[in-house]
Amino acid sequence: MMRPDLHMHSTFSDGTCTPWELARLVQRADVTMFSVTDHDTMAGLAQAADAAYERGLAFLPGVEISTEGDEEVHILGYGVQQDDPVLSAFFQQMEEERIQRFRTMGQRLLDLGYDLPLDEIMENAGASIGRPHLARALVAKGYARDNQDAFRRLIGKGCPAYVPRAYFAASKAITMLRERHAVPVAAHPGLIRWPQEKLTPMLDVWQDAGLMGMEVYHPANQENYPMWDRIARERGLLVTGGSDYHDGTPGHGLIGETIPAWRTAGDDAWALFEAVKKQKHT
Ligand SMILES: [Zn+2]
Ligand SMILES: [Zn+2]
Repeated sequence: MMRPDLHMHSTFSDGTCTPWELARLVQRADVTMFSVTDHDTMAGLAQAADAAYERGLAFLPGVEISTEGDEEVHILGYGVQQDDPVLSAFFQQMEEERIQRFRTMGQRLLDLGYDLPLDEIMENAGASIGRPHLARALVAKGYARDNQDAFRRLIGKGCPAYVPRAYFAASKAITMLRERHAVPVAAHPGLIRWPQEKLTPMLDVWQDAGLMGMEVYHPANQENYPMWDRIARERGLLVTGGSDYHDGTPGHGLIGETIPAWRTAGDDAWALFEAVKKQKHT
């Protein structure tokens, strides 16, 4: 049976492993099909595909798009083409906004007296710089106990160094992915902090925009797997899952960790594979 982990991050966004290292961890966890889904970049996909091929692992190219500004609603796109010109231009623009936001937040931290080597952090950050990089630097310098502490006191929403993100509607990301022949999936619905009376009509809007799946088996949904599974299937959405591995810390998942609870993993992963194949020809 296929053992899928369809959500993880590499050094091309805010993970600590290169795509090659991820493939090694994937194999060690007995995962047989994986997807690299970096934040707002497809830059690591060629390396990940090579690494998967070398190890005989099934691979699905992916990306995780940040939407809804401060709400941090994430839309996964499966089957994206790394050289797609429309998506590339879109992510390029997001990257410019990201750098600008990082600089502004970094400057606020400097002004507050936190001595951080901003240029050095940027140089080592890979393709999509973000708040986790600032958090790690704050921890490394002893200004914060751990990443959560840094977010809670300094860089989280409403904190002194916080700068809001530019707004981009989730439904726009969904439409764009469909137009580029990819499969849009709503990531970790359990992390969306909207009440059901807001989320339910939004799911309708997103499905009208072309949403095809829901990431049910994500560590953030753990307490409510049966509920999310039922919601997804009642809506006719594909069911997907993944660990959201970043750096092996307990705050994020560990590769393969959602598989034991995901009893239909093999069938669901296969259905996603088929949907990706079909989208390519639409
Ligand atoms: Zn996410
Ligand atoms: Zn993620």
